[in-house]
Amino acid sequence: MTTIDSSKHKKAKALKPGSVRPAKELCSECGLCDTYYIHYVKEACAFITQRIDELETTTHNRPRNLEDENELYFGVHQEMMSARKLEPIEGAQWTGIVSSIAIEMLNRGLVEGVVCVQNTKEDRFQPMPIIARTPEEILAAKVNKPTLSPNLSVLEQIEQSGMKRLLVIGVGCQIQALRAVEKKLGLEKLYVLGTPCVDNVTRAGLQKFLETTSRSPETVVSYEFMQDFRVHFKHEDGSEETVPFFGLKTNVLKDIFAPSCMSCFDYVNSLADIVVGYMGAPFKWQWIVVRNDTGKEMLELVKDQIETQPVMSKGDRKSAVQQSIPAYDQAVTLPMWAAKLMGVVIDKIGPKGLEYARFSIDSHFARNYLYVKRNHPKKLEAHVPEFAKRIVGQYKLPE
Ligand code: FAD
Ligand code: SF4
Ligand code: SF4
Repeated sequence: MTTIDSSKHKKAKALKPGSVRPAKELCSECGLCDTYYIHYVKEACAFITQRIDELETTTHNRPRNLEDENELYFGVHQEMMSARKLEPIEGAQWTGIVSSIAIEMLNRGLVEGVVCVQNTKEDRFQPMPIIARTPEEILAAKVNKPTLSPNLSVLEQIEQSGMKRLLVIGVGCQIQALRAVEKKLGLEKLYVLGTPCVDNVTRAGLQKFLETTSRSPETVVSYEFMQDFRVHFKHEDGSEETVPFFGLKTNVLKDIFAPSCMSCFDYVNSLADIVVGYMGAPFKWQWIVVRNDTGKEMLELVKDQIETQPVMSKGDRKSAVQQSIPAYDQAVTLPMWAAKLMGVVIDKIGPKGLEYARFSIDSHFARNYLYVKRNHPKKLEAHVPEFAKRIVGQYKLPE
């Protein structure tokens, strides 16, 4: 059995809610500093010391191959595919592949607990991280809480509970901090199931987004920025509302994304064992990236519950990305009718599959690179990983 010397970190004191975090305004509220693992914050925080390149090698036993376009963009991987559940989980964000993998792992005794995030009773979008020990608790965590979420705030409970085998579900910034303290958790086996993540917001920012974008903010149960270049809102009564990206009130929404997310280059969750998103797949399908043998083992558990097809790629994103770059600076908004028309045209001729994923990565990395350059120039060199520098280097950026 693994024994660890935890005497040092146990003496550290978690920060009180609401107090300034070590990464200051760049903090993504990942939860690490809500625990005594704050002891390791300097090496663990994605916004104090960016370590993706190094941790990729320790996690996956090899670095990302920057000469291979798919690895450059999507990180170390063994395989990618499009997939969907044969029987989707009602109320999941997409078809519920994430919840299904977690449930299988628990049911088959691979893990004793699953770190995931439910919402509070009072507020459907207020994240409440838990360690789930039953399938029901995992199911109650389905669907995105589209706000910064302190998933790692439950880390102290792991050591206290004596658990030895654990699954953590989380987004990139949470997983970087987790990987950095992995060896200190006293676990025999850690599994990591990641989702991609971009453009996240604080709870207050989310309210502003809903109020400026949806026709009925109080009934929205979930939303997603989809491959057809529209935001799709699902409402309580089951109805769906779509708003074209190009019609978003970018002048109002300009400052809405959290500074952490404007400085984030881990869109594809590089350090997870397996990643489940949607952006590299055809509309209504999910996109799976298996990074290592552990991820392969996790996917095997649900193979009989899903149908799959190979990933595809169509179109050419480059000129669309280049043309969109000045808009980040000027916060352009089109009238709704023009935006709708543009959405239709782009949907017909625009990038699809992996090319859509590259479109989204290129545009966000270019925007974030400019943000860090303007707001944290001294951090730029060390904070931007090598793969992101290469991706941004393909475009002409304004000074
Ligand atoms: P479900 O079975 O519904 O399970 C969702 C899981 O997500 C739950 O286990 C829950 O614990 C976890 N979760 C919910 N909210 C959070 C949170 N705030 N932080 C950490 N974990 C959380 N995919 C893309 O391909 N492109 C994107 O641009 C993209 N952006 C995203 C932005 C955010 C903020 C989040 C949380 C996810 C994003 N995803 C993105 C992932 C995608 O939306 C789905 O979460 C993923 O495909 C899984 O769908 P599912 O039906 O299998 O999940
Ligand atoms: Fe701490 Fe996480 Fe915030 Fe970094 S991002 S300061 S590790 S809570
Ligand atoms: Fe964390 Fe990046 Fe997602 Fe923001 S965009 S919540 S920093 S993974």
